[in-house]
Amino acid sequence: MQALEELEPTVRIRELKKDRVNFVLENVDLAFANSLRRVVMADIPTVAIDMVEIETNTSVLPDEFIAHRLGMIPLISTNCDEAIRYTRDCICLAGCSFCSIMLVLNVACHDDTTMDVTSDHLDVVPLNAEGPLPDSGDEIQKRTEHFGHPVGKNDPSTPPVLICKIRKGQELKMRCIAKKGIAKEHAKWSPCSAVSFEYDPHNKLRHTTYWYEKDIKDEWPLSENAREEEPPRDDEPFDYNAKPNKFYFEIETDGSLNPQEVVMKGLAELQTKLANLILGLKQQPDLEIMQNEGVGMAHIQPQTQATGWGETSAWSQQTSPRTAGGASQWTSSPDNNPWGNSAGWSSPSQKANGWNM
Ligand SMILES: [Zn+2]
Repeated sequence: MQALEELEPTVRIRELKKDRVNFVLENVDLAFANSLRRVVMADIPTVAIDMVEIETNTSVLPDEFIAHRLGMIPLISTNCDEAIRYTRDCICLAGCSFCSIMLVLNVACHDDTTMDVTSDHLDVVPLNAEGPLPDSGDEIQKRTEHFGHPVGKNDPSTPPVLICKIRKGQELKMRCIAKKGIAKEHAKWSPCSAVSFEYDPHNKLRHTTYWYEKDIKDEWPLSENAREEEPPRDDEPFDYNAKPNKFYFEIETDGSLNPQEVVMKGLAELQTKLANLILGLKQQPDLEIMQNEGVGMAHIQPQTQATGWGETSAWSQQTSPRTAGGASQWTSSPDNNPWGNSAGWSSPSQKANGWNM
């Protein structure tokens, strides 16, 4: 059997649905699994309502309350990386069709019964921007048909999000501007409603200390994932060198992105972050000396035969919108499928001078 550190990372999908994925990630360490969880929660861009201009609000809820509820409504954000730009990267003065989506809410109740105002009442309308506009950009062509629409609008299988209830004579009329952002700034931009992973269901590694009254086995039933692993024998000695290497992930999205896109973008984002770190280190002045002295640094991807830090072949020349200073992005096309055995996963054997890539 191969030593643990020589095994390639693997992913086995156990369940894939419209809004959730359950998979087992193996042969990575705990830090990697946790990095993936955190990136998926906080760093994947989506669109969400960010500005609300209220013309009429005669409902019982105050303006701020309604604006907050509008912000939390998930909007379809497929291919958000390419389909919309950050407002901060746009040259327009106050939002244009390249960086913003406009939605209007215009509802009035004329019946004697209470009326539910929901996300289905939000309509996407073309945005008429003022001032100078970007003269080029292919963002709009890269949008899917329903980009920016509330999730589940006119889909009978998805119940809409309730915004407010109004009664006869009450009215809501407002204009909303949706923008691209990440959940690190505000949770409304998170594509996920739940992300979790479990490891070591039998607690062989003793990372958890269970409190119990009489019988630990009775009081702490095992999770479903315990079936995937050998239970410890009663006479088994504690292996204090053991490390977790099998992680049971469950990722649930709010519908703005599908779970495949969330995981793929999460991996790409993680690669970008690491690539930027490497590039940041590369800009050290003594690097040239190190290279000249033959201190070969990390090989980035085995396929490209990169010979060191100076090689750009392993990196795409595409500039990430979020990386300043011409930092380039790790080669990661949407076709690279890390579910299988793809280039997205680096080989653990690619070690050089302590840089375990
Ligand atoms: Zn703009």
